[in-house]
Amino acid sequence: MFLKKLSDLSNSLLFRLTILYALAFTVLSSIGFLIFYYRIYAVSMESLDIELHAEAHKYSVLLKKYGLKGIHEAIVDEDKFEDPEDGFYRLFDSNGDILMSTDMTGWRTIPKPNFPGKMGHTGLSYEIQTLSVQGLSDKARTITVALTPEYGLQIGENLEEVDDYLDIFLNLFSVLVISLIAISMLIGWLLARRATRDMQEVTDTAEEISKGVYNRRVKVTGQLKEIQRLGVMFNRMLDRIQGLLTSMKEINDNIAHDLRSPLARIRGIAEMNLLKDSSNEDFREMAAGTIEECDILIEMVNTMLDITEAEAGVNETQLNIIELRNLIYEACELFRPIAQSKNIKIEINMPKSLEFQSEKKKLQRIVTNLLENAIKYSTENKTVTVSASTRNDEIVMKVEDNGIGISDEHILHIFKRFYRCDGSRGQGGVGLGLSLVKAYTESLNGSIHVKSVVNQGSCFTLIFKK
Ligand code: ADP
Repeated sequence: MFLKKLSDLSNSLLFRLTILYALAFTVLSSIGFLIFYYRIYAVSMESLDIELHAEAHKYSVLLKKYGLKGIHEAIVDEDKFEDPEDGFYRLFDSNGDILMSTDMTGWRTIPKPNFPGKMGHTGLSYEIQTLSVQGLSDKARTITVALTPEYGLQIGENLEEVDDYLDIFLNLFSVLVISLIAISMLIGWLLARRATRDMQEVTDTAEEISKGVYNRRVKVTGQLKEIQRLGVMFNRMLDRIQGLLTSMKEINDNIAHDLRSPLARIRGIAEMNLLKDSSNEDFREMAAGTIEECDILIEMVNTMLDITEAEAGVNETQLNIIELRNLIYEACELFRPIAQSKNIKIEINMPKSLEFQSEKKKLQRIVTNLLENAIKYSTENKTVTVSASTRNDEIVMKVEDNGIGISDEHILHIFKRFYRCDGSRGQGGVGLGLSLVKAYTESLNGSIHVKSVVNQGSCFTLIFKK
């Protein structure tokens, strides 16, 4: 139980973000501290070395002015190392034999000095070292200088002061880092909690929706941009799903409605023939009627499948070079007899040749559906115009009529499956033509637009990339 709680906690985003934040902060502040620490160490050592050099220079001058006596007096008077543990001086000859020194009891393990051969900035030959001294917890910094070719001087200083100084800094920093880690964990926790709290809203919404509250939406109130975006996207997705559910319901209702009528008709005719004393001729008529109704049903189901396939992009588009002029002429020829029966004129307005890459079958169905509608929804003696042209790198095709037109109220819905405007029910069709046109146009990377005025006519414009 406890282990499960622990594992839940360690797997939570809140916990991980807090730890990550604290970890990043600790690593960065430690790196900063190390750089700072070594800089302080280097500066301390540098100033100590300058001090040692200055002293070496002082003794070199004393030796030149007053000889060995001068140095001896100066060392005796020197109160710098009153405590012999603080440091030492020793004068030696070129063999390394000590001629005079301060109390070296604590510095016994310091090796015999060698005559140095390096030139320092005082002009003296010198060597600087950091030495460990047995019995001393701190190290010593020594300068060994050749004052003259015969005499050398070694000055050593206990690094205790520098170490103490660095220790104070180290302790201070440790306290600082520990407090900062605690503060960074708190800040990390607050930030992570703010992020996860907003995310919790998304989770709660999803949970409610899974319980059936489909109209629930995420309250986009948080301040974090990413979470706000997540909320907006989530709501948009929910709107789309709800839209799809609504349209699926509409489609179901429409399918039920459109299937019911032909099925009822088939059943009605069959029943009538059974009840009355039907002749062979009656049965033949019934069979013909049944076939007709079945054809309508099959056509409807096939068109629905075509729309679904095109929308889902199931089949790969088979692109070929299409001569649009031929395609439009063929379609118009197909509809000329129906148009003539209503005394409707079909006009074609396009250049001699208009080629572009597209899928012939789909284009044919797009054009025939639009033409069929234009003729179907035009009264007698009107004109239907099909035009096509190139605009920049686009093909623009229009099917225009001056028929009954579509009102603003209906125009928003005409591309929906099974949608039919008032007054269209008397005409043939089931309300799938424009859905198919839209699905096919979009599957060919095109777009469809419509403008219409009631009793003046409609214009459907299709735009394809060349
Ligand atoms: P239908 O099988 O009813 O023609 P469509 O999907 O082709 O189905 O069209 C949907 C509805 O849009 C039609 O029922 C009709 O009311 C309207 N419509 C389509 N084209 C035109 C047009 N050219 N003029 C007027 N109304 C049209």
